[in-house]
Amino acid sequence: MVRAACHCGAVRITMEPAPAWVCDCNCSICRRYGTLWAYAWDRLANRNLQVTLIQGADALEAYAWGDRRLGFYRCKECGCVTHHAALSEPDNIRGVNARLFVNFDPNAVTVQRSDNAHTGWFWTRPDAPIWPGAHPPLPASAPDHLR
Ligand SMILES: [Zn+2]
Repeated sequence: MVRAACHCGAVRITMEPAPAWVCDCNCSICRRYGTLWAYAWDRLANRNLQVTLIQGADALEAYAWGDRRLGFYRCKECGCVTHHAALSEPDNIRGVNARLFVNFDPNAVTVQRSDNAHTGWFWTRPDAPIWPGAHPPLPASAPDHLR
């Protein structure tokens, strides 16, 4: 079982079992949110993952556009995008934002890039080494206020 929590902790979701992969989608909304989706229905393994909103139903608000069928839910307090669901079935969570997982090793999943935008363009790609710190290293000549 994997747990997800927004930054302020108001919204908490569990998934059982933990997903085997997450989706990096480059559509107009996902690339802006920076979400990685763990889907309740795992189409690759042909199995259903149990998704439960265990806390925070009253802390959520949804964004919808276009045909307004799908709602992208976020915490009203901290703004984290937590999940998406059909607006007609808000309790039937379809995808959880895996970036909110708290007890999870990202190496345990594969990242499936989904070219929904038909651009072939992704922010996340294994084409550069990982920086060892929180930020890119600064040159020695950088001013102190940048450190
Ligand atoms: Zn929050």
